[in-house]
Amino acid sequence: MSDADRLGDEITELYTYISAATRQFLVLIRDFDQHECWAEAGFVSCAHWLNFHCGLGLNAAREHLRVAKALELLPKVDAAFAEGRLSYSKVRAITRAASPENEDLLLMTAQHGTASQLERLVAQYRRARRFEDRDFAFDQYRAREVDWRYDEDGGVVIRAKLPPDMGEVVLKALDKAIDVVGVGDEGIAAKRADAIADIAETYLSNSDCSASTADRYQVVMHLGDSHARHNRIENGPDVSAETSERLSCDCSKVEIEECEHGGPLSVGRKTRVIPPALHRALRARDGGCRFPGCTNHRFVDGHHIRHWSKGGETRLDNLVLLCRHHHRLVHEGGFDCRKTKDGEIYFVDRQNSRLPDKPTPKEATLAESLAWMYRSFESRGVSAETCVTKQHAGERIDYDHALVVMMQRAS
Ligand SMILES: [Zn+2]
Ligand SMILES: [Zn+2]
Repeated sequence: MSDADRLGDEITELYTYISAATRQFLVLIRDFDQHECWAEAGFVSCAHWLNFHCGLGLNAAREHLRVAKALELLPKVDAAFAEGRLSYSKVRAITRAASPENEDLLLMTAQHGTASQLERLVAQYRRARRFEDRDFAFDQYRAREVDWRYDEDGGVVIRAKLPPDMGEVVLKALDKAIDVVGVGDEGIAAKRADAIADIAETYLSNSDCSASTADRYQVVMHLGDSHARHNRIENGPDVSAETSERLSCDCSKVEIEECEHGGPLSVGRKTRVIPPALHRALRARDGGCRFPGCTNHRFVDGHHIRHWSKGGETRLDNLVLLCRHHHRLVHEGGFDCRKTKDGEIYFVDRQNSRLPDKPTPKEATLAESLAWMYRSFESRGVSAETCVTKQHAGERIDYDHALVVMMQRAS
């Protein structure tokens, strides 16, 4: 055996283990995401958790989650991946076109073709499907509509029917906005609601979406007597004391004190707006949301570490930038932002334990990692041939035929 052959075998064998380990990674992150474990430490999404703890880029993290979810419906592909017979690249391509009807065909193509051949087939298939669906698509376009009504409890119910391409744009925007807003343990439907409001807000303020709340709203609050737990936003619902503190953290607030008879006592006292120069300094110091693991630097508010209603001052050393999601977590979600005597800012979770600012470094030597992989997957009969594409030199895949069969199965 030549050196080149030996080296080649070592690479393919190692890559088989890497594929099997990647599949195990996907299974774990799918579980982690389904149980929303990431919300416990205040993360906005599973992708943000992966970004912080595994160093995976946000887009790569989202793609891994997409593939992990798709794999649940493709048991044969999943099994081949678990044995290291399919690479992540191939599995990723398969999940873009796979359904229970064409799973075995794609699996066969994947094992006998290279990753780029598979990607080409998938791309052709997706194009062909689009073409076939054109008439149908025009009818869908003509049937587009949005309507809305008020619910009995005053909520606004919006219903939309969109053609796929328009819908895709909206969903993409929603996905993007979901990473920025929403409380983790409320579930995805509530997060979508927050996301729609954020998209609207961005549209309305489109020239500068980095402005603070103060520049976009004047929340007019009717304050009951100072001991009451509930305040009210003008023309709006009652809000809790925690919510009114959050709204007044970084906001032009006009206080209206109400006397017993409901008439205003004093009107128009503007309070505690963070001045623009201070906001700029805060922005320069913090860059974006300071909550550990948050990547958001657009939708941010200045938060008073010690709220001004409790004697905190509007000074740089009492302020910290937080995104809407984390601002809400800190005021209403049981989390808190504090400062040590030395002026170090830190956050605590609902159990009052300090959240790490940096991911805990995991140290593993190459030998340990390899030993772990061999131990975990050795029973699966891995050899240097396992992951190698089963294709003889020069043999071509009949894409046209594969495509025809896939289109037949799709109809
Ligand atoms: Zn605040
Ligand atoms: Zn944040």
